[in-house]
Amino acid sequence: MEWKSGSCLIKIVTGDITEIRVDAIVNAANNSLLGGGGVDGAIHRKAGPQLLGECRKIGGCPTGEARITGAYNLAADHIIHTVGPVYRGGHSGEEALLASAYRSSLELAEKNGVESLAFPAISAGVYGYPMNQAEETALITIRDFLKTGDRGLREIILVLFSRSYVPLYVEIADRLFEK
Ligand code: ADP
Repeated sequence: MEWKSGSCLIKIVTGDITEIRVDAIVNAANNSLLGGGGVDGAIHRKAGPQLLGECRKIGGCPTGEARITGAYNLAADHIIHTVGPVYRGGHSGEEALLASAYRSSLELAEKNGVESLAFPAISAGVYGYPMNQAEETALITIRDFLKTGDRGLREIILVLFSRSYVPLYVEIADRLFEK
């Protein structure tokens, strides 16, 4: 499942983001950056305690922003920690904050020379964002970011934990990107 935008491929895969070999994986973190449940917990467990040490020094991250660390025991080189919004019904600025979380991650990736980047479905787990809306916003933000020129990114992988959302992603990607 592959699409393209300029010189960047957009791929959809299912599986565990901690296993993916890319320049950077994105973590759906919380404001403390000190670990939590879901994908955040899995990343911290696998990366090892040094990650927590580095995150402690950063001292937190506002919702919609992103911070970069090493990836320690993971196959990736870096982790970009971003904080998506908690979904509170959709009228509390959630869409702008989720778009900002993706954009901040993409900008930080570009700044650090990242060519391959993997995203989980930010906010679509414990934070309660409906998957279809979350993914529409995710893919529109990625499309708009790539439209503005060559950002150095060659591969963006959207990692789905569950196969059941694949048709939804494919439908959105078919609308937004070329094959
Ligand atoms: P949030 O708090 O931002 O909602 P979660 O970690 O609860 O973040 O969930 C975000 C998404 O990541 C969910 O769709 C969840 O199924 C998925 N997820 C959980 N663990 C992993 C993992 N190891 N790899 C990829 N995706 C994961």
